[in-house]
Amino acid sequence: MYPLRGSFAPHCHYHVTTKEYAKAYQNSLALHTQQNPKDILINRKSLTLSLAPLEFVVAHQIHSDRVEVVNRSIGWYEESALECDGLITNQKNLVLTILTADCVPILLHDPIQQAIGAVHAGWRGTKAHIVAKTIEAMQREFGTNPKDTLAYIAPSIGKCCYEVGEDVAKYFEEDSYTQKGDKFRLDLPYLNAQQLLAMGVAQENITHSHICTACEVERFFSYRQECGCDGRFMSMVWMES
Ligand SMILES: [Zn+2]
Repeated sequence: MYPLRGSFAPHCHYHVTTKEYAKAYQNSLALHTQQNPKDILINRKSLTLSLAPLEFVVAHQIHSDRVEVVNRSIGWYEESALECDGLITNQKNLVLTILTADCVPILLHDPIQQAIGAVHAGWRGTKAHIVAKTIEAMQREFGTNPKDTLAYIAPSIGKCCYEVGEDVAKYFEEDSYTQKGDKFRLDLPYLNAQQLLAMGVAQENITHSHICTACEVERFFSYRQECGCDGRFMSMVWMES
């Protein structure tokens, strides 16, 4: 199966890879986990060929609220030293990528100022408002107006499957989880959408994949469903020149 594909605008696209996309290791694209880097680089090479002449940026994701402005390819052929969870650019043909297996990838496009962003939000990043801070960085760097901004919330673990303890649930608003005994089901995609709305992004400009990685573990890596897998799928956004 091909990646999930979409376009924010005629010249701005997003893709999400699935397990079937390449052969080795069911197409993990992560260098930082325990899989053989040779196989991962083969997978990345095949992605490079299919999307030539695009260049890629991979962050070393650390569950933080750090956002970096990038202008050139980083972390594609070796483990990334760029520690952050939000990437932004106004460069064309530069693909911003997020690697996940349950966490929420959020892809952003400002079609007026011609800028893009990519966000990695697990519960820690959501607690730290990483998606809001990425929009703020786009405002600061590129003059982005949130009301013009388009957002895609890519496949991630849904409220149907994301069980957390009270120690995690207590950080979030009561409408973002359901409680059954001492178990809580947290809705990370909803929380990130709420943060986008609070920043001024319009409801109609937020697209949800409505795909839960744990429910659709045949297509997507799920850390929870696979009991701590090493595989990661890649969500990507770029503008063509
Ligand atoms: Zn689910």
